[in-house]
Amino acid sequence: MRRLSPQQQEVLRKRVMAAVGDGMSTAEAVRVFGVSRGSVRNWRARFDTGGAAGLSSGTPGRRDGEQTKLSASEAWALVESIIDSLQRVTSDDRMREICFVKTALFKLSRAETERIDPHAPHPLHMERLMSDSALHCNAVFPLRNVSLEERFGEAGAVYRSIREIVRDILREEHGGLLHDALKWLLYKQWESSDEPSPGVECPHCDNLTGGLPHGVDETQCPNLRCGEPVYITDVPGLHLDMNEESARDTVASAYMAIHEMLLLVSFIQHCWERGDFATLENTLLVKDGPLMFPRQYAKLTRRLRELLEYAKRQGVTIHLMGQEKSGMLFDHLEDERRALHAGQETKWPQTAILSHRYIREKVQRAPQMENLYGKRTNYGEKILVRLDSNFSLVLNIPTGQYLDELEKPSHPEDFIGFHRIVATLPHLVSYLHEGSLAPIDLAHGIASLSDYPSTQTLKLFSGLGEPVPD
Ligand SMILES: [Zn+2]
Repeated sequence: MRRLSPQQQEVLRKRVMAAVGDGMSTAEAVRVFGVSRGSVRNWRARFDTGGAAGLSSGTPGRRDGEQTKLSASEAWALVESIIDSLQRVTSDDRMREICFVKTALFKLSRAETERIDPHAPHPLHMERLMSDSALHCNAVFPLRNVSLEERFGEAGAVYRSIREIVRDILREEHGGLLHDALKWLLYKQWESSDEPSPGVECPHCDNLTGGLPHGVDETQCPNLRCGEPVYITDVPGLHLDMNEESARDTVASAYMAIHEMLLLVSFIQHCWERGDFATLENTLLVKDGPLMFPRQYAKLTRRLRELLEYAKRQGVTIHLMGQEKSGMLFDHLEDERRALHAGQETKWPQTAILSHRYIREKVQRAPQMENLYGKRTNYGEKILVRLDSNFSLVLNIPTGQYLDELEKPSHPEDFIGFHRIVATLPHLVSYLHEGSLAPIDLAHGIASLSDYPSTQTLKLFSGLGEPVPD
């Protein structure tokens, strides 16, 4: 029998489990890696309950009875919560409009949050938490008829200026952190690939390009009659939501959604590049809202699924959840709490996994629709969760690659980190608002302290308070 150091044993365990995760049978693993059948079974159990962390040296894996539960302190070890908000300012004559956008990512550790009284948080505690743990990004968007000629010197400047504002914010803020995250995602830099970015519609000539060559910040439109610059920040397609005279209302909210997602990706990238998988696996990423991108932004969905699937195959469990607080499913939850069958002996939490078929037939009432539910847009599937008799929520958890069947998802194992996420939820219940989770509540509380410029200030700043010149 070979004697391996604890580190070598750990590497071996992870390699075996990655191979098994890729579809290698136990018998084959025994033959290929020279390990015993019992070891494979044992590691599989450790992996199932503790993810790749369960395979680490010094973590003997969770024993029966505490299989999927995290202790309260572990559950809170790190919670990242993302919220956003948006405020628009319209000129008195309603002709001109700008929009102030703010996104933030908060890292809340249990130690920090325990100092805060959830019933009456002290502003000074909140302020300290904000300065220590938050990453803010702010942007002012012109939405309608706001002259930017000084900067761009031409008509139709709103269109160009928004593209350049987005590019500049991402390149400059926090040392280009989010620009890096965008490239990491679009070029799939977590694996050694030389893939181009997803395809992009040229903002100048509408020519559909095959994507930017791997790794570049910008390129020239390959259409010879055009040749204008195309930025990596154009790839999501914000410019498709604008026209020359005004940016459609959707631009600001789409920007916000992208920005949020980049904050999240930058955290994953940060851990990934440092090989800090312990932090990554023991962090619960909590997003306020569903895990999805609609329309042209669905190309981001594809990349996010690829990232999550890749991590899963490497044996790294990324715990990500979104809480959906409005929309069809949320209403459905109110209507049909029976979907979570309430037995005589009630055991909490109760969960109901919603298959694509269920959502088409029972929620959307559109069984004739041909595409599978959420196939292009969603990077999380849906679960109804009842934590106790009066707290239910609509949860989104990723599966990695899309599960291409009507009856899927159907099983907790279809989801990434299902058991740990669900076991952690009871520790996250908010005391402030019904149906709300504490990390999201706290994040909103902190954000409300970092005030927007007042509407009056914004008007002065942008000249919107003055009459429009003829
Ligand atoms: Zn072009």
